[in-house]
Amino acid sequence: MIHIAIIGSGPSGCYIADYLAKKLDNAQIDVFDQQPTPFGLVRNGVAPDHLITKNITRQLEKAFTRRNVRFIGGVRIESTPQAHSYCASLTPLELEKHYNIIVLATGATHDRQLDLPNQDIKGTYPSGALAAWYNGDLTQNQHPYIGTKIGIIGHGNVALDAARLLLKTREQLLKSDMPDHVINALTKSQPNRDIYLIGRGSAANAHFSSGMIAEILELPNIACYRTDTNIPEELPPDVLKLIPKEHHRDRLKNLALFRKIPVLNGDLVKIRPAHLPRLTFIFDTTPVKLNGEEQVEAIDLRTSDDTKTRLPIDTLITAIGFEQSPTSLNFTEPTYSVGWCKNGAKGVIQSNRVDAVNTARDIINAVQQSVPCDKIGYHGIKAILDTQPALITSFSDWKRIDEHERNAATEDKPRKKITDYATLTALINAGK
Ligand SMILES: Cc1cc2nc3c(=O)[nH]c(=O)nc-3n(C[C@H](O)[C@H](O)[C@H](O)COP(=O)(O)OP(=O)(O)OC[C@H]3O[C@@H](n4cnc5c(N)ncnc54)[C@H](O)[C@@H]3O)c2cc1C
Repeated sequence: MIHIAIIGSGPSGCYIADYLAKKLDNAQIDVFDQQPTPFGLVRNGVAPDHLITKNITRQLEKAFTRRNVRFIGGVRIESTPQAHSYCASLTPLELEKHYNIIVLATGATHDRQLDLPNQDIKGTYPSGALAAWYNGDLTQNQHPYIGTKIGIIGHGNVALDAARLLLKTREQLLKSDMPDHVINALTKSQPNRDIYLIGRGSAANAHFSSGMIAEILELPNIACYRTDTNIPEELPPDVLKLIPKEHHRDRLKNLALFRKIPVLNGDLVKIRPAHLPRLTFIFDTTPVKLNGEEQVEAIDLRTSDDTKTRLPIDTLITAIGFEQSPTSLNFTEPTYSVGWCKNGAKGVIQSNRVDAVNTARDIINAVQQSVPCDKIGYHGIKAILDTQPALITSFSDWKRIDEHERNAATEDKPRKKITDYATLTALINAGK
C-alpha cells in the first residue's frame, strides 16, 4: 500500500485526490486541512451570493466518497508546532515519517500588502481577510467596521465581489449563505454608501471579468459612475501586448460596459444622488497616502496626469492580490505541489483541475518507477493526534455539519453556516 498525504482540501487538493484515487488502486490518500470543514476558498473565499459557484462543492466532495480517500480536518501542518484553538498540529517530519508521497495544496491566501504611509491605520482591511469574515470562517475572529465612504484599491474580481456585497440590500443578501451578523454589519448604512473602486491602470487594463461588471450594473437602485471620460472602442497597443489573446474579447466587452456608465461630472467628493448607494470606478489613479489619527479619514490619490485629490473615506479595502504564506513548510524529501500554492493566486477554480491532473500523472509515473512502500500512513499519525485536545473531523462529520447548516436555513437561504467553533464541536461530539 502506498500512503499519500495531501495538505489542503481546497479545489486543488480535492481534484488531485480524486484523480489519484481513481488511478491508483493500491494507494490510501489522506487529505489534511487546518479547517474543520473541507473545500478551502470555495467555502471561505468565493462570494456568499455566488451560489452556483459555491455548488462546485458537490463536484469536489466526490473525492471523499471514494473508498481510498480520507478527509482529516482540524490538522495544521507547520514546521514550528503551535497551540491553536481550532486545530491540532503536525510537523512536516511527522508526515514524512508516515507517508510515501506528500502533496502541497495549501493555496496562496496571504493578502498582498499595500506599501503606503500609514497603511496599518484602523479601518483598513485586506480583501482575503474580509472575504473570510463575510463567509463566516470560524478560524477568523475579526469584526471589521464597515462605514459609509469606502475606498477599494484594486481592479480585479475580488474587488468587485466586495463592492457588490457592500451595495446589496438586506433582502438581496438574505438569499446568500452569508451569516446574519455579517448581513447586519454590512447593511447598517447601505443606503448612504459611497464606494470608490480605485485602480492605477486604464479601463482597458482593469482585470475584471465582463460578467462580473454586468452583474454589478444590473443591481437595481444603485447609482454608478466612472471618472474616465475617454473609454476607447479598441484595446490600446500596451494592453494587446500585455494580456493573452484569449482574454481580448472579454476586455473589449469590459470597455463596452464601461462606456454605458455615466461620467461623473464635477467634484468626485461632493456629488451624490439622494438615498442611493453609489459606486464610482476610478481609473489611472494611484493611492499615495492614508490620512487619519486613530481611524482612516481620507486617502490621497494621484492621477496619471499628476492631479492630486484627497478623498474622504472611513473604510479602506485592499484587493491587490494574494501570495503564499511567508512561513513555508520545511520537508527534507522532495514533495509535489498543486494549484494556487504552485502557480500563484491566479485563475478560476476549474484551472486547478487541469493542474491537478497533470501533477497526478507525474506522481503516478513516479510510483510506477518504484516508491518504497514501508510506511504506515494514518495509523501512525492518529497516535500523534490522539495526544492533542483539538477536534479532528472526518468526511462524515462534514456531512453532519452540512446537513445541520442546510436544515437550519430559513426559506430563501441555502444554508445557515456554523460560525463558531464551540457550536461546531458540540454538534460533532453529539454525533459520536
Ligand atoms: C476572495 C476570493 C474569491 C474567489 N472567487 C472565485 C469565484 O467566484 N470563482 C472562481 O472560479 N474562483 C474564485 N476564486 C479563486 C479560487 O478560490 C481558487 O482558484 C481556488 O480556491 C484555489 O484552490 P487551492 O486548492 O489551490 O487553494 P485553496 O482554496 O486556498 O485551498 C487551500 C487549502 O489548504 C488549507 N491549508 C493551507 N495551509 C495549510 C496547512 N499548513 N495545514 C493544513 N491545511 C492548510 C487551507 O485551509 C485551504 O483549505 C476566488 C478567490 C478568492 C481569494
